[in-house]
Amino acid sequence: MVKETKLYDVLGVSVTATESEIKKAYRVNALKYHPDKNQHSPDATEKFKEISTAYEVLSSPEKREIYDTYGEAGLSGEGMGASGAEDLFSQFFGGMGGMGGMFGGGGRPTGPTRSRDIVHPLRVSLEDLYRGKVSKMALSKTVLCSSCKGLGGKEGAVKKCASCGGVGVRVVTRQIGPMIQRYQTACTDCNGEGEIINEKDRCKTCRGKKVVTEKKVLEVHVDKGMVNGQKITFPEEGDQGPDIIPGDVVFVIEEKPHDRFVRKKDDLYFKAKIDLLTALAGGQIAVQHLDGEWLKIEIIPGEVIHPGQIKVVSGRGMPSYRHHNYGNLYVEFEIEFPPPHFATPEALSALDNILPPRIEPSIPEGVPVDEVVLADPDPAEMSRAQHPQATDADQDADMEGERVQCASQ
Ligand SMILES: [Zn+2]
Ligand SMILES: [Zn+2]
Repeated sequence: MVKETKLYDVLGVSVTATESEIKKAYRVNALKYHPDKNQHSPDATEKFKEISTAYEVLSSPEKREIYDTYGEAGLSGEGMGASGAEDLFSQFFGGMGGMGGMFGGGGRPTGPTRSRDIVHPLRVSLEDLYRGKVSKMALSKTVLCSSCKGLGGKEGAVKKCASCGGVGVRVVTRQIGPMIQRYQTACTDCNGEGEIINEKDRCKTCRGKKVVTEKKVLEVHVDKGMVNGQKITFPEEGDQGPDIIPGDVVFVIEEKPHDRFVRKKDDLYFKAKIDLLTALAGGQIAVQHLDGEWLKIEIIPGEVIHPGQIKVVSGRGMPSYRHHNYGNLYVEFEIEFPPPHFATPEALSALDNILPPRIEPSIPEGVPVDEVVLADPDPAEMSRAQHPQATDADQDADMEGERVQCASQ
């Protein structure tokens, strides 16, 4: 004995209908009144909402029981009834994430969606960024099947899935305690495609998938002076699909580290190692540039280059992107001192005569003074001093305790 029969009447089933009878009735009715098929009929839209509501209630054993016992009034407290239908309706058409635009919003098509952009890093050497280069990149992508023109089969072979009304998803409702949870799941009858194609009518080339995978070679022009992170875009070269605008293929420049130069914007930095005599009395250094050319750089006698000093060769850096005027080449000097066997008594006395005098240490009068000597340090002892935690188990344990304390605050 049930209190009301309205929801059963909407689906056109008896109050004793089984779950599968209710499901079948919903499919038939949803297909008939689906907004996609009845774009100019507000009555059909209304009817579709009623069908959805009825199905939502009757397909859930818990809710069906509530309805049977108390009627629609029993469900109103759970946001069911008309508002429940709104909800379901909007979920069908609006709440499908990236697919949202593929289906009209209640008979108001919002146009096709875009397939995702394909973003690919392009590792480029500094040499190639200096000179410019064309890279050929093979891309594997889906394109509309040419045999069936993207239909999946011959004309008329493609039928809208009756189970989901061509939407490809179904809404499932379940009750967890007092909560009613509603979520979407891909339609199992059409694998979420929204369409069904008879086996025999299926396109042989794409097997009904409408798309095939194709290899395409793109010529990527890496222009002179391009920088790390810069994008080279091929508009709409992404995956094709039915009712889809292909996304872009985007190559992102990734500058490879260089063994001689460090690039900062349009400038290049080079570390030059020179001997002490060259630093003091002048000489030459040579740098092989990125185009293979060698630069011979003169150090003028008497310049007295200091360790870590930076000098510049104007206009020999990177070309700037588009304008192609050049940045600078900065040279940072490292001075190689002569080996100990250079320091003969004769050499040292000669230096004593020519170098500026020593700066004597200043120690205040009357303080205690201890005379100590220098030795070469033991590298193992030094590394222990620099990473005390690594060998000190107690300290490790302390740190652990501190971490736990922090986490529990
Ligand atoms: Zn095909
Ligand atoms: Zn389906």
